[in-house]
Amino acid sequence: MARRPVIAGNWKMHNLQQEAADLTNGIMQELKSEDKEKLPEVVIAPTFTSLYAANKALTDCGCGKVKLAAQNCYFETKGAFTGECSVEMLKDAGCEYIIIGHSERREYFGETDEMVNKKAKAILSNGLVPIICCGESLEQREAGVTDYHISSQITKAFRDLTAEQAAKSIIAYEPIWAIGTGKTCDSKEANRVIAMIRNVIKGLFDAKTSEAIRILYGGSVKPATIKEQMAQSDIDGALVGGASLTADSFAQIVKGAM
Ligand code: PEP
Repeated sequence: MARRPVIAGNWKMHNLQQEAADLTNGIMQELKSEDKEKLPEVVIAPTFTSLYAANKALTDCGCGKVKLAAQNCYFETKGAFTGECSVEMLKDAGCEYIIIGHSERREYFGETDEMVNKKAKAILSNGLVPIICCGESLEQREAGVTDYHISSQITKAFRDLTAEQAAKSIIAYEPIWAIGTGKTCDSKEANRVIAMIRNVIKGLFDAKTSEAIRILYGGSVKPATIKEQMAQSDIDGALVGGASLTADSFAQIVKGAM
């Protein structure tokens, strides 16, 4: 069965509540005339304080074309973890997806592969979908260890998951040197790495799981790049940062994936 594409917007630390509501409404306006069945899965990830505003805009619209994600979570269910949000809290706020292991969280907030694995388990056991990020630095690429590094990140992130849980998960391959730099990874090279990731999943689980799991590309995706990216055999969509911050460019990317 064909894999349904996913276009997810990572708003990072942008947008106050009113801005989040306006952007959410703007995206839905842009997608208003599109047939829901033909759209990719469209996901937006506001920061914690704007989840309520974005969720309210989505619920008020009621069109069901756009889903909500969080940009992070904690793996414990509750307790003395100052500053953290559990998966249950994010589900309660309307989230259906949670991004984990983003390179910015790994670099600035010490998120490790082991934490990504614990978060993935917590997300899946609450019935949500983890968007698990992986990717190499420029130094790793230049040292020729890209595939080794990514295989290791994926193997650790998926440790002790069932095949069914793995198949429901989403992976985002995001070369760190392409994030927020305007330098998009060559589509054929991104496809090669993503096919390699699919093969790692096949080795960890089975062929059926590797064929089912959606693997996105992320790193300076723009309206001008999406068609070529989506034309590749193994790229199932995009995780979009900068270009997800205006309704027009995000909607163009969504439409480019149809
Ligand atoms: C991201 O932060 O996940 C990302 C891909 O950002 P950008 O599209 O701005 O490179």
